[in-house]
Amino acid sequence: MEVRGPMSDIIIKNAGYIIDNSLKIYKNSSIIIEDNIITEIGKKTTLPAPEYEIDAKWKLVVPAFINAHTHTPMTLLRGYCDDRRLWDWLSEIWKAENYFDRTVCKIGAELAILEMIKNGIGLFADFYFHQDVVAEISVKAGLRAILGSTILGEEFVQQGGNEFLFEQAKKTIQLARTSELLLPAIAPHSPVTVPQEDLQKSLELAQKNNAFLMIHVSETRDDVLKSEDRYGKPPIEWLNSFGFLNYHKTFFVHGVWITDREVRLLGEHRNGFVYCPVSAQKLAYGGVPPIPELLKNGVNVMLGTDGPASNNVLDILQEMKFASLLISFDRWDPSMITVKDIFQMASVTFRKSYLPNTGLQQYAFADMTLINFRKPHLYPINEHRILSHLVFSATGHDCTDLIINGKPIMIAKKPLTLNEEKIMDNAQNTWMQLEDQIKSETQISN
Ligand SMILES: [Zn+2]
Repeated sequence: MEVRGPMSDIIIKNAGYIIDNSLKIYKNSSIIIEDNIITEIGKKTTLPAPEYEIDAKWKLVVPAFINAHTHTPMTLLRGYCDDRRLWDWLSEIWKAENYFDRTVCKIGAELAILEMIKNGIGLFADFYFHQDVVAEISVKAGLRAILGSTILGEEFVQQGGNEFLFEQAKKTIQLARTSELLLPAIAPHSPVTVPQEDLQKSLELAQKNNAFLMIHVSETRDDVLKSEDRYGKPPIEWLNSFGFLNYHKTFFVHGVWITDREVRLLGEHRNGFVYCPVSAQKLAYGGVPPIPELLKNGVNVMLGTDGPASNNVLDILQEMKFASLLISFDRWDPSMITVKDIFQMASVTFRKSYLPNTGLQQYAFADMTLINFRKPHLYPINEHRILSHLVFSATGHDCTDLIINGKPIMIAKKPLTLNEEKIMDNAQNTWMQLEDQIKSETQISN
């Protein structure tokens, strides 16, 4: 599985600005990477005969962005079905997903990983079937990936029953051990689509293997009502009644309709929480998760794009802007959340809690994104305005270089590990082959 090439020494010189893992800002200085480790940061320094020398005079260097929740194969459904109410949308999406076999998932995941590289994302948490292909492409691409193998209740599984899904999850855990870039996860779909017995089984599997545990929760009011009807408690409280929150590597995704009591529970257990503001608005969940309160209670809040069918891009820079605006709009108060809070969710919170030896600090495994700020929409610039520009003005298109685990993945906007043209052609051809078949059987009219 491990296909990374020989290590390379890299100097990033004259970087206009550097923001490290602790948000310390350096001006006009350099970074040296030897093997895959940062050996110098923040000094004017030189490196004899580096393999890569990047002149970063007009660039800002940050710890590589993190997409804490997505469904990579769903790039093929980008723009397939918009402007529908949630259950109409889901029904169209599910019908199309019936055609997503292993090969289709591979083509979709490849497109997603290419898109994330171009948008400066160095780690993503995936949540889908066929994680073996996601693992293969991530390692080939050189990106870090959390491989979330989906678990669904028996009545939602098309073939093989959910025993098959647990077998796949176990295989994914083994696979994640074959590369330093991969991290395992179990991804039970939600408390309303997975029965208690399988949720408990997922938790035990995660604990036994030190894997992440990721679950969609309280996306809609209906999710909460169903949980209260069935179990007499809202979803997070119910999950807590059999130990979900005691596990420190649990991520709760969406959490649009969580209660104050659930916020306190998440804080007490220092759980992970993934905020997906674009998807929440596009699918009209009708609420906004209580992010300021989650932060105040010490919850690890991170940002996710969700799948490309409900976003429709995999761009954490754009996500940061929506993340901030949605809270300000909802609370009638822009002081409820700061640009620093938002940047942390997109770049450093995950590292601090789960992967502290990566990112941008001395002796860390080098994970960084370079952003070209020599653009009209990012001027004027100074130390005070950098975070504001990142959150409100920049987009993924401004990212030029990506280095992960000391390896250059994109230099001067050119991906080095994946064939950009071929991946777009494959996605187009695969979709065209599927489209007639899906449309004739689902009778969708876009
Ligand atoms: Zn999702």
